[in-house]
Amino acid sequence: MNTQELDKKYVLPTYARADVEFVSGNNARLVDSKGKNYIDFTAGIGVISVGHANKRVNAAISSQISNITHISNLYNIAPQAKAAQKLVEASGYDMQCFFGNSGAEANEGAIKIARKFGEKDGEVKRYKIITLNHSFHGRTITTVKATGQESMHNYFGPFPDGFVYAENMAQIESLLDDHTCAVMIELVQGEGGVAPQDKEEVKKLEKLLKSKNILLIVDEVQTGGYRTGEFLACGIYGITPDIITLAKGIGGGVPIGVVMTSLKDVLCAGDHGSTFGGNYLSTAATCEVMDILKEYKDSGELEKNTLLFNQAVESLYNNHKDIFTQKVGIGMMCGLRVKDAETLGKIITNAKEHGVMVLKAGRNTLRFLPPLTITKEEIDEGFKSLESAISNI
Ligand code: PLP
Repeated sequence: MNTQELDKKYVLPTYARADVEFVSGNNARLVDSKGKNYIDFTAGIGVISVGHANKRVNAAISSQISNITHISNLYNIAPQAKAAQKLVEASGYDMQCFFGNSGAEANEGAIKIARKFGEKDGEVKRYKIITLNHSFHGRTITTVKATGQESMHNYFGPFPDGFVYAENMAQIESLLDDHTCAVMIELVQGEGGVAPQDKEEVKKLEKLLKSKNILLIVDEVQTGGYRTGEFLACGIYGITPDIITLAKGIGGGVPIGVVMTSLKDVLCAGDHGSTFGGNYLSTAATCEVMDILKEYKDSGELEKNTLLFNQAVESLYNNHKDIFTQKVGIGMMCGLRVKDAETLGKIITNAKEHGVMVLKAGRNTLRFLPPLTITKEEIDEGFKSLESAISNI
C-alpha cells in the first residue's frame, strides 16, 4: 500500500488532506514523492521558522539525542533550563516558563494558572475567562471551548464552564464582573483571518485589567518566535501581559509548548506537569532555534526579508485587485483577503499545481507564514509561480 492508502486505512479521517506527499525540504523549498519542487509559504503552519532541514537545528538535535533524549521532569534538565533562560531573556519580561508539547497544552497551562490565581486572590472565587469571537486557542476540550467560534462547539460537551466571548475588543469591558479572572487574546488572530488588534485598544485593555486585578493572557502560539518581527507581538504592541503562551515556531519542528508568566508563585509542585514537556530533545532544538533567530534578527536579515516578502505580497495585491480586497497582517504573518471563499479555494489548489504552497485563514483570507529564513530567490520564485497560478483562474 502507498502512503495515501495506508493513511485511509489506518489513520482517523480528521484532516482533509491535500493529495501530495512531501519527502524532503531545504529552507523554503520542498520536494514531493513524484520529484516535483515547491516553494513553501506555509512553514508547516508557522512551525518551520528556521527553514526545512536546518543544519544547525539538526546538529543540535543529533548531538543531544546521542547522549540522552528523555528522563522525565523528576530531575534537572540542562537544555530545558537554558531554553527557559533564552525565552525569558528574549521576552524582556520578568517571567518563568512551564514546558508542554503543543499550543493547546500551553493554553491549558495558562488557563490553570489564571483559574488558580482567581481562586487564591480575592474574596469571590474568580473563574471566568473572556476570549474574543473568531479566536483560536486549540483543540482540547477546554481550549476548544476557549475558542470563540461557536461552530467548533457542536459536539464534545459538556464543556468546562466559565468561557465568555466578546464580539470585539471594545465589548470586553462590559463583560468583566466579580467572577472574571482573565482575558485571553491573540494580538493577531491567525486562524481567525490574520487580523491584528488595534494597538490603542490593546493598551487600553491592559490598563483596565491591571486596575481590576484581572489577568491578561496573550496567546502567542502563532505570533511568537519573531513571526511578527519582534520575538513577541507583545513587544510590538508595547504591553506587559501576565501570561504568554508559545509553541509552533520555537521548536524547529519538534513539538513544544510554553507558558511564560510573571506569576511565579501561583502553581506549586504537583499542580501541573507533563511527561514529555521540556525534555532534552525538544528543548535542545528550542535553544538552537532561539540562537539562530536572535542572530537573524540582530543582523537585520529578518527585517530585510520581511520587507521583501511584504513588497511581493503588495505587488500581488496590486496586480489582482479584481480578486483581492485587502492586504492584512504584521511581519511574516500576512495575508490577502479574497473576494469570496470559492476563489480562495481555487487559488490554493492552483498554487499547489504551480509549485507553491499557501494557506487559508478564516473564511476568505489567503495566508502566508513562510520560514523566517526564506531567501530573496525563494521569495521571487514563489511569487512568480503564484502570479501564474492566479492568472490561470
Ligand atoms: N493558539 C493559536 C493562536 C494557534 O494558532 C494554534 C494553532 O494553530 C493553537 C493555539 C493550537 O496549537 P496546537 O495545534 O499546537 O495545539
